[in-house]
Amino acid sequence: MKNNLILAIDTSCDDTSVAVTSGPYVLGNVIASQTELHRQYGGVFPTVAKQAHKENIAPTVTSALRRAGITWDEITAIAVTQGPGLAPALEVGIRAAQTYASEHNLPLIPVNHLEGHLLSVLARPKPRDANVQKLSSDLPVVKNALGILVSGGNTLFVQVKQIGKYEVLGQTLDDAAGECLDKIGRMLNLGYPAGPVIEQFAKLGNPKAIPFPLPLTMTKTYDLSFSGLKTSARNLLEDNGVLQPLKKQEVYDFCASIQFAVFRHITYKLNKLLVDQKFSQIWLGGGVAANATLRRMIRETIQANSDRVANPKLLTPYSKKLCMDNAAMIGVAARTKRIQKGGGEQIGRRPRWGLEEI
Ligand code: AMP
Ligand code: MG
Repeated sequence: MKNNLILAIDTSCDDTSVAVTSGPYVLGNVIASQTELHRQYGGVFPTVAKQAHKENIAPTVTSALRRAGITWDEITAIAVTQGPGLAPALEVGIRAAQTYASEHNLPLIPVNHLEGHLLSVLARPKPRDANVQKLSSDLPVVKNALGILVSGGNTLFVQVKQIGKYEVLGQTLDDAAGECLDKIGRMLNLGYPAGPVIEQFAKLGNPKAIPFPLPLTMTKTYDLSFSGLKTSARNLLEDNGVLQPLKKQEVYDFCASIQFAVFRHITYKLNKLLVDQKFSQIWLGGGVAANATLRRMIRETIQANSDRVANPKLLTPYSKKLCMDNAAMIGVAARTKRIQKGGGEQIGRRPRWGLEEI
């Protein structure tokens, strides 16, 4: 039987990504980054993102197919991120997917971007020299896993009751963790996105140098809040309303301290969750999941509660590329959806599509 080969597209924010996947296997995953374009704005500029997606989409499709060694004739379905994300950016990917679907008479599978990040831990690299047509397209059966999603747009704890059935247990009430790091990085002139720079500088600094507060310790929920940490950072850096330049070692100490404070907040709430509930396994996804310190702190928290987690080994995506926005995770998530017959269905963008509405 012909294997399911999915061409997946993600244009949810500032990266144009196209991948070819077969079940959990990633055959090609190409990301045309717009980071340089947006750097001058210190964040993502929606109209600039839309224009860049329009220019990048066709060449990215060509290069993903080439990277995978697959032709259009072999593709069996097209998956596309329907939301959540930036509306003008989503629109470009959806339009392109619809055009390709009707041109090649293929079914279209709309995918939730957050579900993509969650299921990114299930992605597998293509085994060397494997015959694509003979790869198993099965995904594992999952029950009662805890998904931790930490990115530039979202930070949440979600119970994966089974694949496709999710309950949000706690989420940020304001900024996302990555957004908080990016905004503080901007105050320190670290460029955009600042998260990876903060990780490098933090290695040279003392995480205990500045005692940032631990937010929401009095609340019983598993919700998170990062805006207070951002305000504390601004207050510390400002003198009479003007941001003061720091010496090099002071910047390193600041980065180490704020990174520690952001991650300690996440692991404090994770610990509370693990004391209250049992899980089969724990997944970590999203752009900030690339951070080694966050992974270590989460592993330590799981270790401290190992009797409450059946498989205490933290599952993370197999590469950093799969942590950031990418289309391979969209292809893997699409594999779990029923493929409907007929090509080129009309689907509308869903900029605010929550995991529980799937
Ligand atoms: P996403 O929203 O999933 O595309 O992830 C982008 C976010 O992840 C941005 O806020 C980045 O600053 C953040 N990020 C990426 N790599 C790292 C890292 N190594 N450490 C901390 N934050 C990171
Ligand atoms: Mg994302």
